[in-house]
Amino acid sequence: MIGVVIRLDSASCIVRCEGKNVRCPLPGKWRLSGRGQTRPIAVGDRVRLSLAAGSEAVIEGAEPRGPGKLSRRAAGDREVEQVVAANVDQLVVVVAAAEPPLNRRLLDRLIVSGEHGQLAVVVCVNKIDLVLSDPSLQIPDPRLQSAIGPGPEPGDDLAQLLRLYQGLGYTALATSAVTGFGVEELRAALKDKTSVLAGPSGVGKSALLMAVQPGLELRVGEVSAATGKGRHTTTAVSLLPLEVGGYVVDTPGIREFALWDIEREDLKHYFPEMRERFGQCRFADCSHLQEPGCAVVRAVAGGEIDAERYESYRRIYESLPAAAFARRRK
Ligand code: GDP
Ligand code: ZN
Repeated sequence: MIGVVIRLDSASCIVRCEGKNVRCPLPGKWRLSGRGQTRPIAVGDRVRLSLAAGSEAVIEGAEPRGPGKLSRRAAGDREVEQVVAANVDQLVVVVAAAEPPLNRRLLDRLIVSGEHGQLAVVVCVNKIDLVLSDPSLQIPDPRLQSAIGPGPEPGDDLAQLLRLYQGLGYTALATSAVTGFGVEELRAALKDKTSVLAGPSGVGKSALLMAVQPGLELRVGEVSAATGKGRHTTTAVSLLPLEVGGYVVDTPGIREFALWDIEREDLKHYFPEMRERFGQCRFADCSHLQEPGCAVVRAVAGGEIDAERYESYRRIYESLPAAAFARRRK
């Protein structure tokens, strides 16, 4: 039998197998080595089980992992990557249309961390009831613009924003956990996938998940929200099975995961609009910042690349270490 590890602590784990939760002891050789970085399985891993006496089962081994993962620095160690969840399919970046105001820099930062973790990206703009004149409108996102109509409405910007990110290849939707707007689309986007929701606190991540599946048992308060770190982080992660199929990674305090090991030179690969202009700049190793003959700078000037996206690129670039420095650290 094959199951999915949905919860893990130092000596045992819970495996979801054929619709049931089975508790399995961890094989002795897999027990935590004290520092917490060497465990060979993570939440999300697919494991082979054989039945043992009683209701318990024994883990025979783990299946090879897919590319998508969620990782962070191991606690207390700046160099070692800790896989928080394996076989993750997608990152749902949740921001609010208002309260807190939509922060494009943070939105793009989170998208970059999804790209870096090889996750599909879903952009979810929540709390649209606060900006739409008629919050009861039930409009799927591709038709949002025509439903809202032309004019100086806040919703116009929102529709433009959704189209921008859809044009980059991401799924982008507008939701309201309060009115239920877009919740059906979000549920469909989560179906049969393993997803992680990330975004600033207060944007409505918990409220959205409760709207998708009332009664979902989200855990709260196990990790300091201020630091996202602490002794409890390794046991705090779990997968919540969804009735529509699929899982949501429940991890309080996950914020800018995995950006830490990106080098400046890699960043352009995480921007689809730059990826698609690969090879069009005069210099092969163009940073798209100040080199002459840069196709990206040209596209920004011509309005083909969104200026806010480019600004996010510049800011993130500046915040990352140059390759030589990053290599020295390794
Ligand atoms: P989280 O920190 O991202 O998990 O955010 P919460 O789910 O705890 O929501 C934060 C606050 O925003 C709560 O007071 C919610 O009631 C409120 N909220 C969540 N979603 C919406 C929404 O779609 N519209 C409005 N107006 N308020 C919302
Ligand atoms: Zn360039």
